Amino acid sequence: MVFRTLSVRGGMNLQLKSSTQLVVFVGVLFMCQGDLDFQSVFYSRPRHNAGQPCSGCPATQPDGALPYDNFQTVAGGAPWMAMLYSVANFMAADPFPHPFWQIPGVSGYSLNLDYMHVKHLGVDKYVLGSVLFLLAYRLLPKSPQENINDIYEFVEAFYKSGDVKTRYKILKLTMFNTGPGGYPCLKGRAMEVRELMPAISALWRQGMTAGDVYHIAICEALTASCRMDSILSSHRELAKLPPLIGIEFTCETFKYLQQQLLLHNYNGDRLFSITLKAHCLAHCGIRGQTIPPPFCRGAIWGRIG
Ligand SMILES: [Zn+2]
Repeated sequence: MVFRTLSVRGGMNLQLKSSTQLVVFVGVLFMCQGDLDFQSVFYSRPRHNAGQPCSGCPATQPDGALPYDNFQTVAGGAPWMAMLYSVANFMAADPFPHPFWQIPGVSGYSLNLDYMHVKHLGVDKYVLGSVLFLLAYRLLPKSPQENINDIYEFVEAFYKSGDVKTRYKILKLTMFNTGPGGYPCLKGRAMEVRELMPAISALWRQGMTAGDVYHIAICEALTASCRMDSILSSHRELAKLPPLIGIEFTCETFKYLQQQLLLHNYNGDRLFSITLKAHCLAHCGIRGQTIPPPFCRGAIWGRIG
C-alpha cells in the first residue's frame, strides 16, 4: 500500500493513502481588527500618547513635525499621507515584532482599524456632543434643559418616521457636558450614536442660519458623516467598494474631518475635539478604496486539494 506525505507549514505531516482524495481547508488570516488599546496591548503597536502614535504612518503628535491632525488634501496633502508605511517600513518601525508578522502574507497591513470604535465611539461622539452643546447652551432660545427636551422631541419624531430600531430613550444635559479633555462627548452605544447622526443632521439643516460659515461647516460635517455610514451600510455584502464609491467614501471622510478642523474650539468654546481617532478615521477613509473596514472578516477560508 502506497502512502504520500503532505507537509503543512506550521502544522503536522499527514500520511494519506494514495487513493484518498485530498481535501484540505486552510485558514487564511485576512485581517486583525481591534481598537487602539487592543492593538497597542496585543500587537505591541504605539500607544495613543507616543511621539509617533500611528501604526500606519510616521505621523506625530499635533505639536510635532508631522501632525496627525493635518487633513489637508490640497497642495500635495498632509505630509504623512505621502509617507504611509509599506510592509518594509512597518517592520522597520516595529521595535517588538509580533509573531503574527512571521506568517507568510501577514504584516502590518493585516492590522485593521476598527471603524465602529474609531468613528461611532470616537469621532462621532465628539461631534454630536459639540453640536448638542451648541444647540442647548448657545443657539436655541430656552433654558438648556428645555432646549434638550425640544431636541429630543424632534429626534423621537425622526426615529418614528424612519422606523429606527436602535434609539436613545432619552437625551440629558449630563450625557454630553463633559468628556475627555473638557470637550463635550456624547455618551451612548455605537448603534445609538450612529442612528442619532441623521436625526441631528436633519435638525441642524432645519434650523441653521443660511450664510453662516460655521453653521454651514457643521451641516457639511454632519452630512458627510451620514453619507459615510450610508455608503458602508448599502454595500455591506461586498468585500470591496466599487471604485467610484470608494473614492466618494474617501472624499466624504476627509470632508468630515476638515470641517472639524475649521470648527475646533469654535467661538471660544472647547468644542469638536480632534484626537488620534480622527487620524485613524482618515486612514479608514484612505483604505475605503481597497478594503472597507466594516467588511473585514476574521478569516477567509480557502480550499486546496
Ligand atoms: Zn497614520
